[in-house]
Amino acid sequence: MHIGVIGMGYVGLVTSACFSEFGLFVTCVDKDEKKIRSLKKGIIPFYEPGLEELVTRNIKQGRLEFTTKISKAVESSLVIFIAVGTPRRGDGSADLKYVDEVAREIAKHIDGYKVIVTKSTVPVGTGEKLREIISENLKEQTDFDIVSNPEFLREGSAIEDFMRPNRVVIGAKSPQAIAIMKDLYKPLYLIETAFVITNIETAELIKYASNSFLATKISFINEMANLCEKVGADVHMVAKGMGFDQRIGQKFLHPGPGYGGSCLPKDTNALLKIAEEHDIELGIISAVIRSNEKQREYMVKKIKDALGTLKGKTIAILGLSFKPNTDDIRDAPSIYIIKSLLKEEASIRVYDPVSMEEANKILPKIKYCKDSYDAAKGADALVIVTEWNQFRNLDLDRLRKLLKCPPEAEGPYFFDLRNVYDPQRMKEKGFHYYCVGRS
Ligand code: NAD
Repeated sequence: MHIGVIGMGYVGLVTSACFSEFGLFVTCVDKDEKKIRSLKKGIIPFYEPGLEELVTRNIKQGRLEFTTKISKAVESSLVIFIAVGTPRRGDGSADLKYVDEVAREIAKHIDGYKVIVTKSTVPVGTGEKLREIISENLKEQTDFDIVSNPEFLREGSAIEDFMRPNRVVIGAKSPQAIAIMKDLYKPLYLIETAFVITNIETAELIKYASNSFLATKISFINEMANLCEKVGADVHMVAKGMGFDQRIGQKFLHPGPGYGGSCLPKDTNALLKIAEEHDIELGIISAVIRSNEKQREYMVKKIKDALGTLKGKTIAILGLSFKPNTDDIRDAPSIYIIKSLLKEEASIRVYDPVSMEEANKILPKIKYCKDSYDAAKGADALVIVTEWNQFRNLDLDRLRKLLKCPPEAEGPYFFDLRNVYDPQRMKEKGFHYYCVGRS
């Protein structure tokens, strides 16, 4: 079977590469000519472990082709996936301009029955809206079906998540479209993946409900962590004790500087907007969004309170991406933290294994360093913001010597916003150590 995927971001490219690995022929489209030129050479425009090998192999075997022309994908494919961005608008709602643009363009080239699938995260009702846009722009009367097939992959382990998903959600009206979608995902049937087949509106909402629930779990444990600090409790033990209850589960109960990335902040805000439009109050989601903002502010306050003032201080930041194994800095806590520190007239030295080039575009006035030790050189404090593996086993003796140690402090200031290190050991190593939710 031949399919088309439109939008070569994290989702579109992973979807294309994985389907081609399943043996399908995939025409990949993006309007960004530079991106397409690179992809044709097997150069991946972002960091995702394992993706380059998969893309290169499938290009060589003739199953992946790249183009800027939507017409090429539509003409050759039975199924067309829309995987363009749905960024946050100023009012929090999802901006559907790219999805609408693509739908109009698809319609112009439809020449026979097609299944048009939204992989992008889109508000409830978008499927219906797409049906209208496409019907209005068809050049001749042709049959087509709309399917919602939201994506749940996590950046950093996207290939594994696509190949072995917890579930595949398919929302559609037409039995023919459902059968075609099941056929596409046949290799996953063989490994007994759960399939949720439902209507389009439900599928669209499953994605927002899932991300909002994950955001809720993170914010919940962050608030518990803040309480732990005041009452002498250990948040990791609280999370462990809670997580053994199978109704709660262990995952997503790790405290930190707040959630970030291209999905949770955007999707919680969009869900709130969808509910508002239907006169439904989502009190929990509003509280989660506020709680997450406060958590970021609290991290800056922690640093400021400890150092007394930030004016004229140099802060070493380790980690920029919103989580390890990706270079994605969209809505990353690091960006908020750095901007707040700069506002307080601190200077920043930073190191991240893969995100510095991307960060340089929005934070040109900070010092990008060659490694963690270079960042720590002469700094008044070190802050771990992203838990990259290489930050888990730093040479602490070397760091202690590189960081400044004010005479009144017990040792150099070390803020571990991901609780990577053991507080007792850090004390023994001579640091003035701060973490999240462990007193
Ligand atoms: P992205 O911003 O990384 O990539 C989007 C791509 O679409 C860009 O390359 C852009 O050039 C292209 N594009 C825009 N308009 C186009 C057009 N008219 N024709 C052709 N190409 C066009 O986006 P992403 O992070 O891959 O996210 C895509 C969607 O998937 C979003 O709705 C997002 O919420 C959802 N999603 C993302 C993730 C994730 O981890 N990033 C996970 C699940 C779902």
